[in-house]
Amino acid sequence: MITIEKAYQQVLEKAYLLETEKVDFIDSVGRILAEDVSSDIEMPPFDKSSMDGYACRRADINNILEIIEVIPAGKTPEKEIGPNQCAKIMTGAPVPKGADFIAMVEFCEETDNKFVKILKVTQRNNISYKAEDVKAGQVVLKKGIQIKPQHIAVFASVGYTQVLVTKQPKIGIISTGDELVEPHLKPAISQIRNSNGYQLISQVKACGAIPSYMGIADDTPEDTFDKVSKALAENDIVLLTGGVSMGSFDFVPEVLKKAGIEILFDSIAVTPGKPTTFGTAGKKLCFGLPGNPVSSFIQFELLVKPLIYKLMGLVFQPLDIQMPMGIEYKRKKSDRKAYIPVFIEDGEVFPVEYHGSAHIHALTFAQGIIYFPIGVDTLLKGETVHVRQL
Ligand code: AMP
Ligand code: MG
Repeated sequence: MITIEKAYQQVLEKAYLLETEKVDFIDSVGRILAEDVSSDIEMPPFDKSSMDGYACRRADINNILEIIEVIPAGKTPEKEIGPNQCAKIMTGAPVPKGADFIAMVEFCEETDNKFVKILKVTQRNNISYKAEDVKAGQVVLKKGIQIKPQHIAVFASVGYTQVLVTKQPKIGIISTGDELVEPHLKPAISQIRNSNGYQLISQVKACGAIPSYMGIADDTPEDTFDKVSKALAENDIVLLTGGVSMGSFDFVPEVLKKAGIEILFDSIAVTPGKPTTFGTAGKKLCFGLPGNPVSSFIQFELLVKPLIYKLMGLVFQPLDIQMPMGIEYKRKKSDRKAYIPVFIEDGEVFPVEYHGSAHIHALTFAQGIIYFPIGVDTLLKGETVHVRQL
């Protein structure tokens, strides 16, 4: 049995970097950027009014000003502002020569479309100066980020329309268990619906990788071997759930060995998820995840997700917030590191009602997970814990 920290290290050591490809920028959300992106222009490209108002000289703010031009956004000013003159200007329009101040329209009184009196003067000039946000050639986005909608706006603004990203790993998913039926069927007595398969498909998609569902393997070495062999041939990573515990029909470890996989660990000092198994065959990476859905979910979070991201060139760092416990929370045994689903209320952390690793509904109330270190059996009320966002 190894610690979860050691397991994490062993898993990430097996990661390699996938190749890159170009995609259209509007299709790049969720992908990992594979090069630095720099701007081909200055931003703003000219001194720009940040308000609707009147462009004038600050020296003239107490005088009646003559309106000599109207400048909508998109128009180049034709006149220079002289003493006691102004131009009516719209947000986003270029500031005319001679002006160093935009009086806000809300604080001005206009007469006959010709003259303006400024009633209130703001401290700010209300001008966004040329290149104050970005200089030409400046790196605006760094390699290794996961692309979000706000990054698409930056791509658009710098004209980066073909985005270099890492390829997405293909992840084969196999559920095991004679008791399983697919979700559209009503389980007979002694059957349960396959929830892990679909939970994993979704977890994989949420990481930006490509899931490939291989179906339910019977609890026989033959069927499990057939599905594992096919999955290994077609995918970069293979995830199985179930069949890794100590039962008489838990064939997964033996099948993985027969399929040429070298097992690196098959037991972690963690709960939920102790029997989590990991092995490799050349570049192929394979996890035997526990059958219980909460265990499978959490082990995916702790081990599989960081591996998928590392293959794509991203160092996955979950948001980790330190907060006080809202109640005292105890556990019976302390020989393993224990992860507990929690929610946050009024700045304090509370465990969700949790009946154990088959209780998938508990996760739907969880905003994060906390942990008991090995050797600790009590988290005191008010004690600071690390909440890892889910
Ligand atoms: P196992 O490790 O195969 O003994 O599975 C442990 C527990 O998880 C058993 O109660 C299984 O019925 C349950 N289980 C296994 N696979 C799935 C699955 N795909 N979806 C939901 N529950 C499962
Ligand atoms: Mg089973």
